Amino acid sequence: MTDILIIGAGISGLLAARELAGAGLSVRVADQGPVGRESSWAGGGILSPLYPWRMPEAVTALCAWSQRSYPELAAELLETTGLDPEWRQSGLLVLDPEDCARADAWCEAHSVSWRWGEPGILEPQLADVSAPAILLPEVAQVRNPRLLQAVLADVRRLGVKLEEHAAVTRLEMHGGRVVRASTESGYFEAETYLVAAGAWSARVLSDLVPGLPVEPVKGQMLAFQASPDLLGSIVLAEDRYLIPRRDGVVLCGSTVEHRQFDKTPDEAASRLLREFAVRLLPPLRKAPVVGHWAGLRPGSPDGIPFIGAVPSIDNLYASCGHFRNGLTMAPASARLVADLILGRPPIVVAEPYGVASRG
Ligand SMILES: Cc1cc2nc3c(=O)[nH]c(=O)nc-3n(C[C@H](O)[C@H](O)[C@H](O)COP(=O)(O)OP(=O)(O)OC[C@H]3O[C@@H](n4cnc5c(N)ncnc54)[C@H](O)[C@@H]3O)c2cc1C
Repeated sequence: MTDILIIGAGISGLLAARELAGAGLSVRVADQGPVGRESSWAGGGILSPLYPWRMPEAVTALCAWSQRSYPELAAELLETTGLDPEWRQSGLLVLDPEDCARADAWCEAHSVSWRWGEPGILEPQLADVSAPAILLPEVAQVRNPRLLQAVLADVRRLGVKLEEHAAVTRLEMHGGRVVRASTESGYFEAETYLVAAGAWSARVLSDLVPGLPVEPVKGQMLAFQASPDLLGSIVLAEDRYLIPRRDGVVLCGSTVEHRQFDKTPDEAASRLLREFAVRLLPPLRKAPVVGHWAGLRPGSPDGIPFIGAVPSIDNLYASCGHFRNGLTMAPASARLVADLILGRPPIVVAEPYGVASRG
């Protein structure tokens, strides 16, 4: 029998699969759609919370661990799969640091380097911004669709079985344990089950953890094709951002909408994002829009994910609710859930993420 069935093939499920298969377990991952095509694909790939000083410590702890491990993860994936997730420290320029005293204190306390910068000197193509901005030079980004492709290739290499178009409709219980995960056309059996179903996790767990506060939060993104030298760093203002990719694509994100499971991109959001992007970086007026999409973030209270054992059930775990920072937190989150499943000492104190304490 398979040692572990993971429900959900986003970055949370796939990196957990990589950890567990790397530890010698037999792993199967079931996804309701094609693998790696939901929030983890739709996201921007900024490897930091937008305003890190506004985050609870529980989020900061996972972000910090992940930020340290990303360069090695990206290098390992490139070596084992030949696919480059394009991890690079492009820096984050914050144009509206109205809470700069807090930012200063937070950076000092967390040994994060930052400095004041003149936006017009750092990024000459930006519209005139008179106030100085905060530059976090070590903030990195990853090209998340490529990261997913690389992780997928790597888990295949490690022998993980991937089941596409296999929506788990029910977790069947017997004697205080999950005994099978049913789908429309059959079922999967495993010793242990991990729910990493992103915005759908509360649905998957609805019988066993009623009221788990994980809900879909829609985010829309726009992509421009510009020239590679137009913008160097990620730029943040008014909770929106521009992300320059190596090949000149500039992403603009994002909206934050509560629309249940509707992830249709719409004209109004496209206009809003385009106006923001052009106001901040006027040359984008002439750049063609080459993409517009939406994804469903797994929203949770304060953005703190649920990671750990489901109370009173011997063999069921969850890793979900990563909200706006799931790509950033993914390596730490995957390691933590693997530690808990395997009975290893956890990389961070696990209590703040407990399903029992906040479910
Ligand atoms: C517009 C946008 C921008 C973002 N930008 C960033 C950013 O810059 N940096 C950052 O850190 N984070 C960002 N995020 C957040 C980040 O993308 C998410 O937190 C993260 O991807 C969540 O990963 P996940 O694996 O938990 O969920 P997902 O990637 O959504 O994966 C869940 C998987 O579970 C599957 N599934 C669901 N139900 C079932 C079922 N019943 N049976 C089987 N499979 C099922 C789904 O099909 C899906 O593949 C952004 C998100 C959006 C939408």
